[in-house]
Amino acid sequence: MTLAETPNYKNSSNPFLTLNYESALESLGDDYYDEVAAAEFPQHILRWRNDALLPRLGLDPQAVTDEDFITAFGKFQGRKPLLALRYHGYQFGEYNRQLGDGRGFLYGQVRASDGELYDFGTKGSGRTPYSRGGDGMLTLKGGVREVLAAEALHYLGVRTSRCLTMIETGLSLWRGDEPSPTRSSVMVRMSSSHLRFGTFERLHYLQRPDLTKKLLDHVIEQYYPHLNAQQDKYVLFYAELVERFAKLAAQWMAAGFCHAVLNTDNMSITGESFDYGPYAFIPTYDPYFTAAYFDYYRRYCYSHQPSICKLNLEMLQEPLKAIIDKGELEAGLAKFDEHYYAEYGSLMLKKLGFEQLPHPAADELVNLTIEFLQDSQIGYHQFFYEMARTFSSKWRDEPGFVLNNSDIVPVPGVSAIFDNWCILYHKILNSFDCDRIDVIAQTLAVQNPKTVLLRPVIESTWEAIAQEDNWQPFYELVQQIQSRS
Ligand code: AMP
Ligand code: MG
Repeated sequence: MTLAETPNYKNSSNPFLTLNYESALESLGDDYYDEVAAAEFPQHILRWRNDALLPRLGLDPQAVTDEDFITAFGKFQGRKPLLALRYHGYQFGEYNRQLGDGRGFLYGQVRASDGELYDFGTKGSGRTPYSRGGDGMLTLKGGVREVLAAEALHYLGVRTSRCLTMIETGLSLWRGDEPSPTRSSVMVRMSSSHLRFGTFERLHYLQRPDLTKKLLDHVIEQYYPHLNAQQDKYVLFYAELVERFAKLAAQWMAAGFCHAVLNTDNMSITGESFDYGPYAFIPTYDPYFTAAYFDYYRRYCYSHQPSICKLNLEMLQEPLKAIIDKGELEAGLAKFDEHYYAEYGSLMLKKLGFEQLPHPAADELVNLTIEFLQDSQIGYHQFFYEMARTFSSKWRDEPGFVLNNSDIVPVPGVSAIFDNWCILYHKILNSFDCDRIDVIAQTLAVQNPKTVLLRPVIESTWEAIAQEDNWQPFYELVQQIQSRS
């Protein structure tokens, strides 16, 4: 019985229970998931509600109570079936078939006001057939970190899932990477889909091309609907997936973000970024910056992200070969670099204040900026914020005026690159009419917010919660991120 047919909840006053749920994945049959039950928790304390998302669900935040969040997403009352998704994946290069939703499930799928289908996916909602030795739980710190990452990335223009809510659940958890016992939470993510590359890899492993095709048809119908009527829709799908991932990788790189665990079970089939565990924003431009302490060989370090996405896309060809010609797949993947460099160049130019620049000035400026940031080890985010903060039309007058009113002081050894950078930036500014200067200032300000989610910022926010149960710094931080201040 689906929710809509359940008389008790059809007339519920809880707006989350009467949303326009669709049984898109459920209707494919139970080859792709297992029905599960949610854990029962000793406590439910609403710690985060993402009111910014509610209008997209057709809901007025004023009309949604905290209790509505708790009943729906902490107690999971009135919603069935809850589906633990089946998937496999390559983890740090090794194929793992012991995967699947081990601490979460698909709570429901909703058509939002933008016409798109979204998943509500839980994290920390209890054990499932895929939990292996795990407790099925999410630490409170893990919940806090994912809420922050998703909001920060979204407001930096990265295509990402968001967190709808996070509820503290009153359990004591033991973790090797957090002082333990540590507090628990359940988090509900709103994402474009929880179908992963690993969902397809599992079907290939099971030698079920029939199920692969059925799932691929579903993916195209729901998430690539503009391709649905095309004769070569499968080829076009893969080509678009390649483009989406090339752009996503470029967005991470420009944002100075290191996802940290780019296993194929963390790669969404819609090309959206999701699942934030040990991620970090880079403090300085270090290509080998590695966010996960257990990533001993720096496989998923900052600068490897584009090539890892490309490799994962290449491995996805194995299951897709059942449907798409190998040559077509290879031709699709061959476009990755072109898409990546075009997007990365354009995003970096924006961070530098420009919507567009003629070639070769565009490449020259981006390359010199990276060279300076890498050699100087000046804060990556600080550099761009200082540009935004101190930008002045005076910078047009002389190269020596560029950034001279900022906190950017080049250390010995890099002053020559810095001087060259100032000369180039000055020259480029002078290629614009005076009346464009305000637009450049505006672009710099929009692209480079002051608040950056560097590790010390997250840690001090967490310490206030851990030591004093003081949530104010967390709410203030989210507010600053959301208001781009
Ligand atoms: P992740 O690294 O978060 O993408 O998770 C990798 C796999 O481990 C997935 O199958 C997760 O569902 C599972 N997993 C992670 N943590 C837990 C946990 N505490 N309990 C059960 N399963 C977990
Ligand atoms: Mg995952």
